[in-house]
Amino acid sequence: MKIKNPATGDIIIELKADTAETLKNKFNALKEGQKSWSALSVGERLECIEKFGALVQQHKNELAAILTEETGKPIQQSLNEITGAHNRIDHLCKYAERWLSEEVLVDSGNTREKIAYEPLGVIVNISAWNFPYNVGYNVFLYALAGGNSVMYKPSEYAVLTGKQFEKYLHRAGVPENVFQCVIGDGRLGQLLLEEDFDGYFFTGSYATGKHIAETVAHKLVPVQLELGGKDPLYVTDDVPDIKQAAINAAEGAFYNNGQSCCAVERIYVAERIYDEFIDAFVEEVNAYKVGNPVDPDTFIGPLTREQQLGFLSDQVADALNKGAFLKAGGQSVEEKGYYFRPTVLVNCDHRMKVMTEESFGPVIGIQKVASDDEAVSLMKDTPYGLTAAVFSSDEQRALNLLRKMDTGTVYWNCCDRVSPNVPWSGRKNSGLGSTLSFKGIRAFVQPKSYHLRNW
Ligand code: NAD
Repeated sequence: MKIKNPATGDIIIELKADTAETLKNKFNALKEGQKSWSALSVGERLECIEKFGALVQQHKNELAAILTEETGKPIQQSLNEITGAHNRIDHLCKYAERWLSEEVLVDSGNTREKIAYEPLGVIVNISAWNFPYNVGYNVFLYALAGGNSVMYKPSEYAVLTGKQFEKYLHRAGVPENVFQCVIGDGRLGQLLLEEDFDGYFFTGSYATGKHIAETVAHKLVPVQLELGGKDPLYVTDDVPDIKQAAINAAEGAFYNNGQSCCAVERIYVAERIYDEFIDAFVEEVNAYKVGNPVDPDTFIGPLTREQQLGFLSDQVADALNKGAFLKAGGQSVEEKGYYFRPTVLVNCDHRMKVMTEESFGPVIGIQKVASDDEAVSLMKDTPYGLTAAVFSSDEQRALNLLRKMDTGTVYWNCCDRVSPNVPWSGRKNSGLGSTLSFKGIRAFVQPKSYHLRNW
């Protein structure tokens, strides 16, 4: 595997990908290791996870440099991700014992009824590159806490980071035969589908997620999918500060170069404030520093994947052909590396791909709306269901709109946000199942019901 630096296109390192044979050996080891790992108490497993978290924080500068080098994420955002992801560890330490302990429901006379939560066994985590700490922790740390062993396949664009997870988990006391990282691209992913895992946990695109679910369906084991989105934001006419609304909306659209599953992907703005909002939005976007991701002031670095340059150019051309106006950006940067200028398209509508197809890059379409009803019907016009946001000074008005959304998450006066306290789940083409919260802790265990009776 050639690992490239998206800021230059240069090869950082060449690594040997896993093969069917190494995968099999690792799988067999995990099968064995899971037995003694599951025999530990939840508290003992959490001790290792806590140590891992401390090691990551101790080495965060080095780890951020690795993440930035292989994905192009601006260094400050790499540090933010590494620091922020630690909240998953805090969440597990606070709640895992509560949600994984036995529950006695009936204890009367000579009858007892209780539930024990047992691990699934050996699970596989096929992961994405855009927030490898956040989306990785959501799965592999919660799975380990539940007593499973884990085969972790980082994305081919975040391999070096994946190897760091393995190194520090082992250093923190998670046995080698309880966590294994395998590296490779989609071909290795395909081989994983043939192995007999006890659960398939995937983060990535709808197309790959659907393929995985279909391929492993016959095994009748849990399959969980965290997929893409086309998340809408509606800015109503009663926002108290149009400029601030524009700044927050732009951050939701462009943070991490728009490469977030819950990035704002399309914006609807009330007619009355539309022009003022657009001016403030464009001013904000034009002020973003685009450039070398190792520079601490950079807000927009290169895209992680070279092929996305053509994809975004095509979305922009399609929108312009159908009547959109370009207010900022619109093309790649004429230099080494996979840079695309932050792009704002206005006068958009749903005939344009930029309003219907996941961009996953620094491109946003903005559309004017005449009423709340029109906004709701456009927000709902999507096969995805990850998040939806409303900016308004009126909480009741916002909640009335958000109740109508068929999405796993809704936001009032915020966006592009994930918290371990509440479930993270997509509906429709955005996924299946939940990570985080009590749902995410219980996702990696199966209940066993005990009916116990004395003679
Ligand atoms: P992707 O689907 O291209 O790849 C994801 C993983 O699947 C990679 O590890 C890849 O090697 C593997 N893979 C590819 N083909 C496979 C196959 N045939 N069998 C098994 N595995 C295979 O997605 P990506 O580009 O890494 O991630 C971007 C997508 O992920 C976006 O759509 C984004 O919205 C979504 N995402 C969702 C969430 C969420 O929490 N909902 C979080 C992050 C990213």
